[in-house]
Amino acid sequence: MRKRIKQLEKLAGALEPNAEERASLLDKVIQYTNVFLDDIEQMPTYVPTDDKGMGLYDSPITEESIDIDEALRLLKHDVDRPGLNIGTDGYLAFIPGSGLYTSALGDYIAAVTNRYAGIFFASPGAVRMERLLLDWIADFIGYPKSAAGDLTSGGSIANLVGIVTARDGHHLSANDFTRSVVYLTKQTHHSVEKALRIAGLKECVKRIVPIDECYRMKPEVLDDAILGDKKAGLNPWLIVATAGTTDTGAVDPLVPIADIAQTHQLWLHVDGAYGAAFALCDEGKRKLKGLERSDSLIIDPHKGFFLPFGSGAVLVRDGEKLQQAHHYDADYMQDQDQLASSDEISPADLSPELSRPFRALRLWLPLKLAGVAPFRAALEEKLLLARYFYDKIQQIDGFEVGPYPDLSIVTYRYIPDRGDVNQFNRRLNHAVQQDGRVFLSSTLIDGQFTLRLAVLGFRAHLDTIDRAIEILQEKVKEIERNH
Ligand SMILES: *Cc1c(COP(=O)(O)O)cnc(C)c1O
Repeated sequence: MRKRIKQLEKLAGALEPNAEERASLLDKVIQYTNVFLDDIEQMPTYVPTDDKGMGLYDSPITEESIDIDEALRLLKHDVDRPGLNIGTDGYLAFIPGSGLYTSALGDYIAAVTNRYAGIFFASPGAVRMERLLLDWIADFIGYPKSAAGDLTSGGSIANLVGIVTARDGHHLSANDFTRSVVYLTKQTHHSVEKALRIAGLKECVKRIVPIDECYRMKPEVLDDAILGDKKAGLNPWLIVATAGTTDTGAVDPLVPIADIAQTHQLWLHVDGAYGAAFALCDEGKRKLKGLERSDSLIIDPHKGFFLPFGSGAVLVRDGEKLQQAHHYDADYMQDQDQLASSDEISPADLSPELSRPFRALRLWLPLKLAGVAPFRAALEEKLLLARYFYDKIQQIDGFEVGPYPDLSIVTYRYIPDRGDVNQFNRRLNHAVQQDGRVFLSSTLIDGQFTLRLAVLGFRAHLDTIDRAIEILQEKVKEIERNH
């Protein structure tokens, strides 16, 4: 047996590169990522291909190993070539992501050191770093010291954590579900409905509160609906407001909504996955007034703080409620009780996760290395760029705009002299996307095909917006010529 074990040890040894091998691997990986970043300014934002990365299947997982050069070749050809280049400045679609380099370095360190960030005693430093970041977010939002939170993989899971906390915070049990009412709008992100379903709450009554001409929830109607539902013997319990809708960037009127939640004692959950980061700059803070009065909120650092994908956050005003909804004990976890101090609550007791990546480092490193000021400036820049686009595009013959942007998303469309408006805009959208120099996306608003521009990438600047306007004009001309 000893002999066999030793044999296996030798075979498994390939998993641990030695110092020299590490240096060579790292060198090649850094070269690869450096070339990527050196090229990013010239990179098309969208690369449509016929093969769509199929080549990867020609290299299945087998007993054979390949070297790093071959691995990077596959990566370049089949993964980093086809599709969207989210990190390019011209990516102005959906909700842009970015990919801060210093965050990637944080991920690298976190993965090498692999600190266990789920349980306090295992890595007190990693847990304190997470606390520090959540406290910082709570502070600029305006939450009290009683708040607690969780760094999640993204906004969808953060919404789920918020809704589960709201459910338990209101002591809802299965018997109550069919008479409990949730208030949202048709602009609420679909992850909220998904979270309600996953949380077992799909049988709740969902009241779609009407929105105004700027796509914001109408508070008077919300109030009436709650009163009506109470009168009908139902149990209104949750309002989901959005601080920056995905579709149009609209901010629901948070102050009157918070008043209503307070009067009727409903839980107010605010989805700020896209918009809440703007509270970091004065102008955004003004737009988001009332956010600090919610019972729970979410914010996506992989959106507004420009991190690579994989970072959301949820905050709950009364931190104990978050813990009550998520703590757990297990026999095999008993050592932690002896080793733990009462200093910090373990993230595992505030989250659906147990083992988790050391997620704090990818946010902490960029914030510490740059300081907060560049983030604040970038966010204000995005707000102004959206307003700039809004002003410019409507000065061009044929373009009409939606409402003045609350945050950094603008809706607009082109009205051709003749022919179908929807069809024209569908063509225009497609032509811009296929061109690849910028990538815009579209939506349906009241059945109308509408173009939207979302500015949130940290590389998007004034010349990016000018370029987008130029390309739009160019494509309009092309389509009109071919008509
Ligand atoms: C992006 C977004 C979500 C979902 O967040 P993920 O990080 O993609 O899971 C939820 N709500 C809003 C308003 C969003 O913009």
